[in-house]
Amino acid sequence: MSDRQPIFILPENTDRLLGKDAQRNNILAAKLVAELVKTTLGPKGMDKMLVDSLGDITVTNDGVTILEKMDIEHPAAKMMVEIAKTQEKEVGDGTTTAVMLAGKLLENAEKLLDMKIHPTVITKGYIMAEKKAKEFLKELSVDVTLDREDLLKNIVMTAMTGKRAESSKERFAEIIVMAVKQIQENGDVNLSNIKISKNKSNGIEDTELIQGVIIDKERVSIDMPKRIENARIALISDALENKTPGSEAKISVTSPLQLQEFLNREEMVLKDIVEKVKKSGANVVFCQKGIDDVVQFYLAKQGIYAVRRVAKSDMDMLAYSTGGKIITNLNELTENELGKAHIVEEIRHGEEGMTYVKGCENPKALTILIHGGSEHVLEEIERAFKDGLGDVATVIKDGKVVPGAGAIEMELSKRLREFANTLSGREQLAVFEFANALEFIPSTLAENAGLDPIDILTELKSRHDNNEKSAGINIFNNKVENVFEKGIIEPTKIKTQAITSATEVATMILRIDDVLASKSKSSGGMPRMPRGMGGMEGMD
Ligand code: ADP
Ligand code: MG
Repeated sequence: MSDRQPIFILPENTDRLLGKDAQRNNILAAKLVAELVKTTLGPKGMDKMLVDSLGDITVTNDGVTILEKMDIEHPAAKMMVEIAKTQEKEVGDGTTTAVMLAGKLLENAEKLLDMKIHPTVITKGYIMAEKKAKEFLKELSVDVTLDREDLLKNIVMTAMTGKRAESSKERFAEIIVMAVKQIQENGDVNLSNIKISKNKSNGIEDTELIQGVIIDKERVSIDMPKRIENARIALISDALENKTPGSEAKISVTSPLQLQEFLNREEMVLKDIVEKVKKSGANVVFCQKGIDDVVQFYLAKQGIYAVRRVAKSDMDMLAYSTGGKIITNLNELTENELGKAHIVEEIRHGEEGMTYVKGCENPKALTILIHGGSEHVLEEIERAFKDGLGDVATVIKDGKVVPGAGAIEMELSKRLREFANTLSGREQLAVFEFANALEFIPSTLAENAGLDPIDILTELKSRHDNNEKSAGINIFNNKVENVFEKGIIEPTKIKTQAITSATEVATMILRIDDVLASKSKSSGGMPRMPRGMGGMEGMD
């Protein structure tokens, strides 16, 4: 008997969790991720400080940033991080909400599992609830058109509330709405038209919208003009240097005459570069590589404005906005390749000079220049701008909004409970739990603001039972009131997307009853909890 060889279908060093253990372990990991971002939700949410292995610090309130920067290893936890990323990609906001919902759906599913309800019944109920919730969302949405600037601004201000951007949110809202309106084309918005630049000087209130492109570089020589009107712009990807051998290599000359001849020849080549630029009619040069000192000298003499070592992405943006063509070989440069802009000028902010290219041929090229005192502030403001831009773009495309501040979640929860009452069978319980999970949003908004979540939920419930479908918890005055009237408004799409992806990941995790993990060197077997969680807890 024992002469039979065992058959290995898995490598020897594979760990395995089965059935209930696998499920509970996954649910726990997902809940922990939701717990982690929970304290950042809403206007009174706290920031997290993230320190990477190199000691670099990010201070943020942004769900997706937190999860992206953390080194999360557990597979179920990673699936939660994916929701945040999808949410960010699809709508650009609502990441914390999506992750929290998924966590709560799983936590509530655990209660049902304890009651011996089969996971497939739970997933079925959740999917029914998801479908219904989306129908309700449609019914509860208000239409917004492009000319409702007041509503669009409110959407941005809602998105920025509680972020570092809050103090200037009115101005930022104006900038964002103006920018998106300008680039939209029949309701389609391509946000890559808007470049975000950052400048470490002045205060965040100096943040500005520029009709054109800003390059974070100054002119190469102070002998060049500071400002060019009716700019004709050459975009050159190659270096403006002498590339004939000899300029870098060793040269051996035997007489002073030979040396002079050599120098003359080199100067000729460099002068010829400037000649070619001039002949094309260009009065501005953006060069992706270096510009030789001699070339700089002659360009300045010709009154040409030149910038060197421009990033590839900036070159592309310049080509797009000025209508110019990037050329590699100077011999190809003619008038046809030049881009056009009304003004090119250097503007100094403190020590640093930047090149502004304004009034570009393509009017859809815009730059938001964020000012702020430090790198950390600039990055956080940039994230707030991205949220705001994402929200307005979403609303312009989709045309639908709902009240925020937990109002929409309360109304959905109420309607789902009514829907559950019409069902029979055990799915009903799952729909109830889905409804309960939605209350996690208003209750956390209240909790993060130091209010009693149970009191607030009780009041919200009775107001919604009274058909006040826009009753939410306004964190500005801590009152339960009609938050739509108070301008707390969000794109419907944020909520639809959050519900979709939360349901998707929750049901996916519920269906797993077997985890096979090969032992990697770093984790040594079974999936681990998100790393660094212990360290984060003290921050809340
Ligand atoms: P997310 O990553 O999900 O967007 P946020 O931290 O940006 O998370 O918080 C968004 C939540 O804050 C939304 O539910 C929104 O309605 C709510 N909110 C915004 N402004 C207010 C306010 N003044 N009072 C109450 N809730 C608000
Ligand atoms: Mg947000």
